[in-house]
Formats: sequence, structure tokens, C-alpha cells
Amino acid sequence: MDTQMLIGAAFEDGSEQAETVLNPRTGEVILDLPEATSDQIDRAVDAASKAFQRWSRTTPAERSAYLLKIADRIEAEAEEFAALEALNCGKPINAARDDEIPAIVDCYRFFAGAVRSQPASAAGEYMEGMTSMIRRDPIGVVASIAPWNYPLMMMAWKLAPAIGAGNTVVFKPSEQTPLTALKLATILADELPEGVVNIIVGRGETVGSALIHHANVDMVSITGDIATGKKVLEAAAKTVKRTHLELGGKAPVIVFDDADLDALVDGVKAFGYYNAGQDCTAACRIYAAPKIHDRLVADLTSAVQTIQYANADDSTNEIGPLISPRQRDRVASFVQRAADHKHIEITTGGSVHEGHGFFYQPTVIAGALQTDEIVRREVFGPVVSVTRFTDVDEAISWANDTDYGLASSVWTKDVGRAMACAARLQYGCTWINTHFMLVNEMPHGGMKQSGYGKDMSGYALEDYTAIRHVMIAH
Ligand code: NAD
Repeated sequence: MDTQMLIGAAFEDGSEQAETVLNPRTGEVILDLPEATSDQIDRAVDAASKAFQRWSRTTPAERSAYLLKIADRIEAEAEEFAALEALNCGKPINAARDDEIPAIVDCYRFFAGAVRSQPASAAGEYMEGMTSMIRRDPIGVVASIAPWNYPLMMMAWKLAPAIGAGNTVVFKPSEQTPLTALKLATILADELPEGVVNIIVGRGETVGSALIHHANVDMVSITGDIATGKKVLEAAAKTVKRTHLELGGKAPVIVFDDADLDALVDGVKAFGYYNAGQDCTAACRIYAAPKIHDRLVADLTSAVQTIQYANADDSTNEIGPLISPRQRDRVASFVQRAADHKHIEITTGGSVHEGHGFFYQPTVIAGALQTDEIVRREVFGPVVSVTRFTDVDEAISWANDTDYGLASSVWTKDVGRAMACAARLQYGCTWINTHFMLVNEMPHGGMKQSGYGKDMSGYALEDYTAIRHVMIAH
């Protein structure tokens, strides 16, 4: 197992406080990993600054070739990456190997193409005797900080557009899930010039905090909690760093009476519970129209009861455990507080799974009201609430009545109604008659306190570049 950080061309161990990395499926310790020292953080930023001088002047074609090599190397070791991600996150091996790795490889390949074909305004004479042109140039050293729910995928979403656009990066994985980043470090050291990507490990309040406050970091890109995003903004204010924030979500799922109930139930069974609900787009907050409500609760309850988890034969598992005992207990306390309300019925699940690992039973909460905590706060677990609405205005106003604005969906056979709802929803994404589908060509990112950074798509390249005007006197 690769356990060393990458600083410039050197592989190094940290020597500050060790973080215990756990296998969430069994609860066993995988290893203790000491975090980076302040000297190592400084040297990683220095290595990125030095590398920027040359890397920022490579051509898009050169950077594209590097991204393609990284994609090929991940693909060649897909089984190993998937096994390591499954070990560190508890993900079912089939999900890690068949869902995540291909999307990760495709992300590097998408940006390999996108960096060579960025659109631009036409150069021209906007003042007599002068020619103006627009340039898109890299920003500098990017500190990239990732969460634990999709470690290698969040790394791809951050690295590919950042280095593709000509920036250099100091990357910090979540202290809970550093293993695939450290494996990728060996590939990045083989394939990329020294210092283009540096990888250091450690906790948010120590290593992460040092990075976001670092004077020589030009941009901070973070996916994480809203509270963490706010700390990034405070730190960035000191030197006016650019920020790219991807924060939490609490996705509303608006279901009208004419919706295809089977498709909805299949969709929520898959996309409310995928990754044990540890997903910022999880279909976790259903608003159901009056006539479909009772059938929806009954059918969803039956479907969720069939979700396979915690089986000894991992190839049969559909979802994994929560990432940590802390996260499992957090989920349990949300459900317990919901269950204390008389108007709420837990129609399935509602308990910690007995046995090894940090599993929580897939749970459906019926009868939830808009004012209930379970409807308002991000649970980040395998828990879906159902709330009955009376008319479209109520559904839309409840869906928008939140600090979050990442993802949403509308389920109806009426195309006009679907489009009218999509226009009124204040979310970075609205799916119609589906949920959760992401493609590398389209942007993923939020509104409101879900943040404003766009991952994937040409919009990510815009986020990681600065627009410049060059004017030439004839
Ligand atoms: P978190 O905010 O605790 O940690 C995210 C990362 O930030 C970790 O690497 C952590 O070490 C670091 N960090 C924490 N405090 C820091 C600080 N003071 N300074 C610098 N870095 C710091 O979030 P998490 O618990 O790892 O992930 C779950 C959260 O991420 C959820 O809220 C979820 O919705 C969100 N998320 C959002 C998206 C998205 O695309 N919008 C995707 C995945 C996860």
C-alpha cells in the first residue's frame, strides 16, 4: 500500500499527529497515518510555485497528453483502485469498480479534450486603431481539499480542470480517506513534471487550515461542509484568493400525481440510498402530491426493504456503511429526533445495524413536515423523508425554502409543468423524471450556501482560469 506524500519529486512520510484510517465495513484499523509538518506544507506549496513557471507555459496539447496518460494509468489499475476505495470507504466493490472508476477515467479524458477547445470571444477592433483579444490564463497554485464520500472522483473533478488549465496543485484528501490519493501519487510522480501536483495528508483544522491561509496559495478549491466553506472564505479574504466551493445539499424530489410511480420508486431506491446516502445530491427529501402520496410511501417502503447491505458476499451489496462511527451516530440521532415527533412514522429502518462495521438501516420517514429538522438539515445517510403537499406553489416554495441549492428533481408526465417547475427551482441542477445523473460534459455545482464552484464541463475550466484582456495599438 502506498502511504507516502508527494512533495515535488520526493515521497515523504508526515511526522505530526497520526490519523487512524478505518475500514468502515469492519471497523478495523487499516493504518495510522502521520500528518504533514508545517515545513512539508511549505515545501509542497513551494514545489507547486516553482512548477507553475514552466507548466503554465505548456501548450493545451501537451497538457492534454498528460491528462490522457493519467486516465490510461488509472484505467490499467482499475481493479486495484476500486479495491482500495472499497476498503477505505466501505463501498460495495461493484459500485467502486463499475460506477466510479469509469467516470473518473472519463473525467481526465473529457478535460484532455476540453482544454484544447475552449471557446473565446472574437478578437477585434473595439476602438479605432486598436485590436483587443481575450486570454484565459491559469491562476497559479491551487490548494485542493477533498471530502471522504468519493475520494478518487473528487480528486479527478479537482485535478483534471486545474492542471488542464495550466495551474499547479497541492492536494489534500480527507484525513479519513487518503489511500487512493496516495496510490495515485505514484502515478502522478511517474507521469507529470515535478511539482505540478503535490499531495499532502492531514486533518482539516491543521493541514487544511495551513493551506487555505498560505500566502503563496492563489486559489482554494474545496468540497465539504458549509461550515468549512465559510472558513475558506474567511481565510481567502486576507489575500483575496480565488475560491471554488462545492458544499452540501438537501435535494428535493417533487412528485406529482401523474408521475410514473414505479420509475420514481426505482429512482429513489437507487439515488436516495446510493453510497449510503453520503452524497450531496442524494434524493432525500420527497414532496408528494395528495393522490400519489400513500402509494408512494407504501411502494418505497417495500422497495427500500430489499436494499442489500452488510452481506458477507460483497458482490451482492448495493450500499455500504457510513464512513465512521461518528457519522453513523449522527445519522442515528437525526432519525431518533424525527421519531420523537407524533406525526412522523418510520416505515422501515430506523436503527443502527447490529454487527460489524458502521452500517445504518436504509430508512423511510413518512409524515414529515416542512418545519421538521429531518426535512431541513443534511443527514448524509441512508434516510429519505416524505412530505405531502397540496399544490404546485406549496411544493416549489418548500423545495426552495432551504439554505441549500445543489440538486433537485421533478417527477411528472406533463412536460410543461416539469419545465415550469425547473424554471422556479433555485438549484444548480434539476432533473426531470430522473435524479443523480452526472456527466462530465455538464456542470455540477450549487446555488445559495451549496457554493458556487462548478465541477466538470467547460465551466470548471472557466473557474480555474482568469479572463484577461490584451489590447494592441496598431
Ligand atoms: P468537511 O468539510 O468536514 O471536510 C472536507 C475537507 O475539508 C476535508 O479534507 C477536511 O479535512 C477539510 N477541512 C475541514 N476543516 C477544514 C479547515 N478548517 N480548513 C481547511 N480544510 C478543512 O466535509 P466532509 O465531512 O469530509 O464531507 C461531507 C460534506 O461534503 C457534506 O456536507 C457534503 O454534502 C459535502 N459534499 C459536497 C459535494 C458537492 O459536490 N457539493 C460533494 C461531496 C460532499
